[in-house]
Amino acid sequence: MATQSNATMDKIISLCRRRGFIFQSSEIYGGLNACYDYGPLGVELKRNIKDFWWNWMVGRRSDIVGLDASILMAPRVWEASGHVAGFTDPLVDCKVCKHRFRADMIVDPGKCPDCGGALTDIRQFNLMFKTFMGPVEDSASVVYLRPETAQGIYVNYKNVLDSSRLKIPFGIGQIGKAFRNEITTENFIFRTREFEQMEMQYFVQPGSDREWFEYWKADRQSYYQALGIHPAKVRFHEHGKDELAHYAAAAFDIQYEFPFGWKELEGIHNRTDFDLKRHQEYSGKDMIYFDEVTRERYLPYIIEASAGADRTLLCVLSDAFEEQELEKDTRTVLHFHPAIAPIKVGIFPLVKKDGMPEVARKIEAALKPHFPVFYDESGAVGRRYRRQDEIGTPFCVTVDTETLQNDTVTIRDRDTMQQERIGIDDLFQFVYGKMQV
Ligand code: ATP
Repeated sequence: MATQSNATMDKIISLCRRRGFIFQSSEIYGGLNACYDYGPLGVELKRNIKDFWWNWMVGRRSDIVGLDASILMAPRVWEASGHVAGFTDPLVDCKVCKHRFRADMIVDPGKCPDCGGALTDIRQFNLMFKTFMGPVEDSASVVYLRPETAQGIYVNYKNVLDSSRLKIPFGIGQIGKAFRNEITTENFIFRTREFEQMEMQYFVQPGSDREWFEYWKADRQSYYQALGIHPAKVRFHEHGKDELAHYAAAAFDIQYEFPFGWKELEGIHNRTDFDLKRHQEYSGKDMIYFDEVTRERYLPYIIEASAGADRTLLCVLSDAFEEQELEKDTRTVLHFHPAIAPIKVGIFPLVKKDGMPEVARKIEAALKPHFPVFYDESGAVGRRYRRQDEIGTPFCVTVDTETLQNDTVTIRDRDTMQQERIGIDDLFQFVYGKMQV
């Protein structure tokens, strides 16, 4: 764990590009604004973050199951959910430089933040991406790219209930792409138009919703701690009446202190029975839950915990980043929790002779089926350590002369830089143990 992150966005963006975490989309064509591609290390990191979330929210629990709904849904879904009418942001244009802004993000109202010019009146701009289904581009074939994954869960709530033995309270978790035609994008992968959400919707009896809301607030806070995020950099922000989304009775954001300030990482909402009621009304299908024990019938309330996978990745990068001034050089290190580090172990022969590379290759072959490892024999060992520190590899194993005599290696800890000797046969258990939460 870093003593304290000293990340700046410039440093993070440059590291991401240099080491293959994140590239600009369509870079050879000049790039597509605010669209990004995850490179070899980025994709491992993102998968690990999603797996971490999935295990926390779905895998380890018996009251929550998973779902993978399609991105395109019947357009009526978005009428019922209120997105067609109300999923808008206030848009203003500068009359002078023609730049566009989200009115609620302008510090000095009425004045263009870029040139100081006068702004147009506010008009509401719908954030949903529209496209057409099939060969004819007419209003009857309009479909939307989903702006949130949640609706896929609501419209499947009865399917899940009828095909499982779940009883209220229970939850459905889902990870998937969402699209919002944001007026302005910002801060690298923080706000983009295509992103991934990790959402869990928890169905409860009305009246118990406040209690469950508190439960999920506490649970989600523990989750970020387990993920290795500095607790002092995570806080709650309660939505005031004017901030509440059209569906929410209560809402808390979990905020993280990014290099550009405190910003939302996840939203926890009490969506009441708003969504199920509307889907019942618009689809004509019964959404009522029947409690076999108490014989009660009711529309469940829903508590939602909605996090962004890309935002979490940026949070993890910002939080893990540290530049340390050492005696002889500067060390850049990413202090990822071993569970999410893209590469778990660097494996080095001390020198490229005396059979050391062969032993190191054998260790690589033994560990690789279990988790990603990286074999490196080029340059001084100190430099190899630095290369692994920079991408957050928690352990480096070195094969040396003693290895050839007694089958032990040194294992070096990324954070303390201390080494200990350990038997080759114990390596897997050692690393695997550290990866557990
Ligand atoms: P914001 O106020 O930042 O626009 P929001 O309150 O509209 O976010 P929610 O609808 O609650 O966001 O979405 C849940 C989560 O999805 C957010 O906490 C965030 O992590 C992620 N998310 C939302 N919009 C974006 C986006 N444009 N780019 C990346 N992640 C996003």
